[in-house]
Amino acid sequence: MIPPAPLRLRLDGAALVHNWQWLRDQGGTAACGAAIKADGYGLGAQGVLDRLSAAGCSDFFVATWGEAAALKLPGDARLAVLHGVRDADMAFAVDHAARPVLNSAEQVIRWRGTGRACDVMVDTGMNRLGIAAADIAGGLLDGLAVDTLMSHLACADEDSAMNARQCAALAGLAGSTGARRLSLANSAGICLGPDYAFDLTRPGLALYGGIPRREAEGHIRQVAFPEAEIVQRRRIEPGETIGYGACFTAAAPTEVAILNIGYADGYWRNFFGHGSAGAGRFPVIGRISMDLIAISVDAEPALGEGDWVAIDYALPSAAAASGMAQYELLTGLGQRFERRWD
Ligand SMILES: *Cc1c(COP(=O)(O)O)cnc(C)c1O
Repeated sequence: MIPPAPLRLRLDGAALVHNWQWLRDQGGTAACGAAIKADGYGLGAQGVLDRLSAAGCSDFFVATWGEAAALKLPGDARLAVLHGVRDADMAFAVDHAARPVLNSAEQVIRWRGTGRACDVMVDTGMNRLGIAAADIAGGLLDGLAVDTLMSHLACADEDSAMNARQCAALAGLAGSTGARRLSLANSAGICLGPDYAFDLTRPGLALYGGIPRREAEGHIRQVAFPEAEIVQRRRIEPGETIGYGACFTAAAPTEVAILNIGYADGYWRNFFGHGSAGAGRFPVIGRISMDLIAISVDAEPALGEGDWVAIDYALPSAAAASGMAQYELLTGLGQRFERRWD
């Protein structure tokens, strides 16, 4: 028997489903999928897949075939692998239910001979992944069984003229391939309005409680709640310091709790001077260690060894406090948490 973990990630399954339903409803008649790459943005891809699948989501996206291989797919779930296929993926990929999202002429040529279905990414200005629109006109996709033709927005979280340009570029490709569906919007793209939804949307961040744009404020609920156990409580006197570098000096007698969480768990060093726990009642004081943090618990005389404390981790405010992206705060959540859905 392995002893229970001293830190856990409480996961609110109802909030996850609520967020997916809100995102789906913004897209009008478009289907709403879910990006579950990077282990479901750190929450656990299988747990996310099972819950969203039960709620009616049937299109899921991972980055690599290794991620696809790790998943058990419910009967009606469709999975797409965003990075396409390398030579080294082919033997595995042709026998797997997932579709590659082909991103280049090389990948198209590699896949064409299989006769199997695929998705295709077309670049509309991001210059990251995707074939060029001119390649489509040139016949690159002829003979390919394309399910979804997709593109990706570079600036959806900003009010940029590029959004409308990319939207128009994808709309202009309607009917130019045999694709059954068009897809453009990530979480932020969904917030740009129904014109951006096409046939299928691909949210990630907002499913997990991220607020990509102000339109989502008040609609998206927090899903991931880190909690850590107190290892030790101590009292320090005025002039004494806490932690590495002695960066915090007590001005008055201070009650301190040492918590079982640190930067190795994704509680980044940037939270130094800015983080808090217990809904703001317990400021994080001193530097963040690899496995430990200190909080001031003057506000709670009863807290002691073995008690659990909720780390303040609402993504917009935690991102503002730490200077990290909401994405990084999710995907950095480490392997030592016990992930517990409720
Ligand atoms: C990661 C990803 C998404 C999801 O993006 P969010 O900003 O997390 O909603 C959608 N589409 C593609 C191609 C992606 O790589």
